[in-house]
Amino acid sequence: RAKYEGKNRYRFFEKSMNEDLAQKMLLQNSLRNALERNEFVLYYQPEVDTFSKSIYGFEALIRWISPEHGFVSPLKFIHILEETGMIVEVGKWVFKNACEFARKINIDEANRIIVSINVSPIQLMHNDFVEDVKDIIASTEISPELIGFEITETALMESFAENIDKLYKLRALGVMIILDDFGTGYSSLNYLRKMPIDILKIDKSFVDDLNSEEGKPLAESIVALAHSIGLKVVAEGVETEDQFNILQKYKCDLIQGYLISKPVPQEETLKLF
Ligand code: C2E
Ligand code: MG
Ligand code: MG
Ligand code: MG
Repeated sequence: RAKYEGKNRYRFFEKSMNEDLAQKMLLQNSLRNALERNEFVLYYQPEVDTFSKSIYGFEALIRWISPEHGFVSPLKFIHILEETGMIVEVGKWVFKNACEFARKINIDEANRIIVSINVSPIQLMHNDFVEDVKDIIASTEISPELIGFEITETALMESFAENIDKLYKLRALGVMIILDDFGTGYSSLNYLRKMPIDILKIDKSFVDDLNSEEGKPLAESIVALAHSIGLKVVAEGVETEDQFNILQKYKCDLIQGYLISKPVPQEETLKLF
């Protein structure tokens, strides 16, 4: 009897592995046509100034609405785009659309609104990346000062020197560099000093930890550290008033999270302007 169960369990396990792989291949196949079939959309999530509460900018977050698979989270498909190299084309699409959005919302010269996009390490490492960015800036006629690139520490650590060199080139175009999910990677303070960054984005896990006494000093120190080297700080994933108030006390410059707004479709965002 035990043997029978054991064998059954093994077969169950094997089956679920195959299903995962099959599911992944199905997604991969559908993704090949997703761009030309216009199945991607960008949602935008605001970032507000902690003190004035005015809108500082928006982060573009990709969504895939597939006729076969329904609404698929980027956590499920970005890595497939990366593995297949499709992220390069999709990333260009994201950037171009985000630039067009940035033009539409920046109607008031006196009140600049920044639009940031997430950049995968595969995109950054691609030979044409800087040229492509330059071309899209030119064709969309966007002021590069209105654009931010979000890059994670982990993305930078591989081929560090080469990536840093690219970031300097990007920054020379006038765009801002944002270090995303800060605190989750392995970069030491020594590396931080060498990165050409403008904004540090504290990972949601630190914001979650504000609910405990041990978590507070860590968040407070990250804000102080960022300020001491001249960086602005955003906190991501802020969900409660309590978290907001603590971050305000620590002088965190910008707040993003469900407390302010979830990511919303472009059309809805445009209605604000
Ligand atoms: P990320 O850049 O760190 O984005 C933050 C994620 O947290 C987003 O998930 C956002 O919807 C979610 N979020 C924001 N505020 C809250 C909150 O208060 N509570 C909770 N629970 N979640 C919150 P999303 O949109 O599912 O994106 C997941 C990740 O996928 C992003 O993490 C980013 O790494 C990647 N991604 C999204 N869009 C793109 C894209 O256009 N290009 C690339 N390369 N990656 C993208
Ligand atoms: Mg991001
Ligand atoms: Mg993030
Ligand atoms: Mg994150």
